[in-house]
Amino acid sequence: GKGLAVFTSGGDSQGMNAAVRSVVRMGIYLGCKVYFIREGYQGMVDGGDNIEEANWSSVSSIIHKGGTIIGSARCMDFIKREGRLKAAYNLVTRGITNLVVIGGDGSLTGANLFRQEWSSLLDELLANNKITKDQREKYKFLHIAGMVGSIDNDFCGTDMTIGTDSALHRIIEAIDAIVSTAYSHQRTFIMEVMGRHCGYLALVTALASEADFVFIPESPPNLDWREKLCSKLEQERKSGQRLNIIIVAEGAIDREGKPITAELVKNVVVENLQQDTRITVLGHVQRGGSPSAFDRILGCRMGAEAVMALMEATPDTEPCVVSLDGNQAVRLPLMECVRRTKAVAQAMADKNWDLAVQLRGRS
Ligand code: ADP
Repeated sequence: GKGLAVFTSGGDSQGMNAAVRSVVRMGIYLGCKVYFIREGYQGMVDGGDNIEEANWSSVSSIIHKGGTIIGSARCMDFIKREGRLKAAYNLVTRGITNLVVIGGDGSLTGANLFRQEWSSLLDELLANNKITKDQREKYKFLHIAGMVGSIDNDFCGTDMTIGTDSALHRIIEAIDAIVSTAYSHQRTFIMEVMGRHCGYLALVTALASEADFVFIPESPPNLDWREKLCSKLEQERKSGQRLNIIIVAEGAIDREGKPITAELVKNVVVENLQQDTRITVLGHVQRGGSPSAFDRILGCRMGAEAVMALMEATPDTEPCVVSLDGNQAVRLPLMECVRRTKAVAQAMADKNWDLAVQLRGRS
């Protein structure tokens, strides 16, 4: 059977295990020899026990676990050609020419580069007598399918990344808990949520929790936000509301690009309204815990689709990323999605928020 390996790379997220499980089982079902690569690219570069054959039962009882059981890591070695050469050796000598990468845009970029270099890496290995002519010929094509694991939902091309829904569950649970105490004491609560430069988690959280105000990086407020915020909070209290909730995305900024932090918002509320105001920064709680049903199923579907994409690949099939489009798992060109995702980051850095939002929408 064909050699296929799966690995998780970059930041972890809930639902990665479901994806790993699905890749392993779909691969075995279709007659592949399936491997885990532990610790992301580092395991690929280091080889040895890091690359281990998987069987049907090695992915039992993992679907409900958060994080990734095969480990994830950032890997400096893989950024250099020397590291990728070692990685190529470790794959070829095991007969692995199909890779499923579960990670963020960095991990997918690395995979694409690896695939572009594959031929020349094998030439170098052959020239150094590390592999045989037969191996050079037999394993000359490398196929890649990616899927995005991230709680931030910050990747262009997919409606949802694996982990986002679980992170929202975690955040909402925390807010519900806070609301009950805030209600008793007539407090104002400021909650900072993750998302880096993407306001998705903050925005959806705000809608789902009846927040009074939300700050997200894609829609920076004018400099009069202080007055607007205070009058809104005051108005809510006057109309009988016993508490206020303000959601701040970790990347929130104002029109001038200055950060709007939970601390800053708190000072504004305390100075102007003298409300009893508390900050909650959820941090890594958002990444932890068990994956939601949605993320489990998303991981399963994407994993199966990724394996099918690899099995159907011909020598000139470009690397794909499996995405969710509506309720459909689809294959999109990996590099186009990565390029768009990077263009969003650039637009945000250029303070061109309208362009960023437009690029992030469906193409
Ligand atoms: P994410 O995949 O979550 O975006 P990173 O950007 O940290 O996370 O990327 C994860 C790993 O992918 C890096 O540690 C590195 O090993 C590999 N990688 C990222 N970018 C590249 C690149 N341009 N070339 C080669 N490898 C890369």
